[in-house]
Amino acid sequence: MPEQFGVSGTPYMEKKQEIELYLHLPFCVKKCAYCDFLSFPSGAETQTAYVEALKREIRAFFAEIEETEGAEYCLRSVFIGGGTPSLLPAEQIAGILTEIRSDLPGAVSMGEPCEITIEANPGTLDLQKLSLYRNSGINRISIGCQSANDRELKVLGRIHSFADFQKSFRLAREAGFENINVDLMAGLPGQTRQSWEKTLRTVAERGPEHISAYSLILEEGTPLYHRYAEKDAFPPLPDEETEREMYHRTEEILREYGFRRYEISNYAKKGYESVHNTGYWDGTFYKGFGLGAASLLPERGIPSGERAEGEGKIRLRVRNTEDLNRYLNNPSSCSHVEERLTVKDQMAEFMILGFRMIRGVSLWEFRERFDRDLEDVYGSVLQKQQSEGLLEKSGGRLRLTERGLDLANLVMEEYL
Ligand code: SF4
Repeated sequence: MPEQFGVSGTPYMEKKQEIELYLHLPFCVKKCAYCDFLSFPSGAETQTAYVEALKREIRAFFAEIEETEGAEYCLRSVFIGGGTPSLLPAEQIAGILTEIRSDLPGAVSMGEPCEITIEANPGTLDLQKLSLYRNSGINRISIGCQSANDRELKVLGRIHSFADFQKSFRLAREAGFENINVDLMAGLPGQTRQSWEKTLRTVAERGPEHISAYSLILEEGTPLYHRYAEKDAFPPLPDEETEREMYHRTEEILREYGFRRYEISNYAKKGYESVHNTGYWDGTFYKGFGLGAASLLPERGIPSGERAEGEGKIRLRVRNTEDLNRYLNNPSSCSHVEERLTVKDQMAEFMILGFRMIRGVSLWEFRERFDRDLEDVYGSVLQKQQSEGLLEKSGGRLRLTERGLDLANLVMEEYL
């Protein structure tokens, strides 16, 4: 039986802690063929009830912070993700943000600026909706394009064409969005190196500030997975060598358009790196609201004398229920502790997530956070990986080399 983690169990926060909020809106027009996210179609009535539940969960969480003596936080970002949040009426999205602002306890200051992102899909956006997003304080939009090739979009089961994406992008600019991310996907059925390069160039020419470029993963249980379990499935998936070429060409092509790779799969123009995602990779605490949402929070204070030696400060990975009815009935006490992260776990996570960033991990930050020298903890692994040309050290940081990035999964495994 998982440990209950309701309002009364909401953990205390350390002083002057940065925190990020994630709001999960699980509704989509229809399920894409490759999708294993917690998302599904639903009617307007369920959506309205869900938004009300989400607000109740927000209220309860902030009330708990309000009662915690000495807590002080800075809200660094809010991310409205899904699902397809842009499927909902914009008034409902604005209402959720109003709830956050009006419930924000005195102990939580809004970061200046606070990045507020909404995920959106072409086919669900119009100018009025986008303008209302801007007026409600949303300052970044992430549009799911995936490909500039309509045949590839069709195989993925997306609801839109590339022309729909172009229209959404133009409307987002018209509504005043100056920070737009576009999600793209490589390794698609029927995709060639040439069609991937065309997608990259066509999208980069539109001039977004940020591009996320992930590879398609065939997740078990999805229609695409079953289709490709058959030997002669058509159109074929790109072979390994083509995928590798696509991966390398992504960096080269996007560099031509002024993008800098700052994370394994993320590219940004200068100053437009995603605050929210960087928070995940650098270990910032986050609170997720909504169905199945995950949080990373500090454990309620255990007097230091009662901690096992070397246990230090525990972090908790907490997850909300994935049962919609349970969530709607009791959104503020339907979560459980999924994982207790000891200091050893946190160190490993620091390395693994930190190496996803091109800038790598900071020796100084490691010492600040864990009161130990990184090289004392991981000395032999670091030496080995440096001698193999996978890691390099400069300016007080350790980062993956080109070769290390190519073999990132293997490098990171050694910290587990
Ligand atoms: S739009 Fe995104 S969340 Fe919705 S079904 Fe498609 S991939 Fe899944």
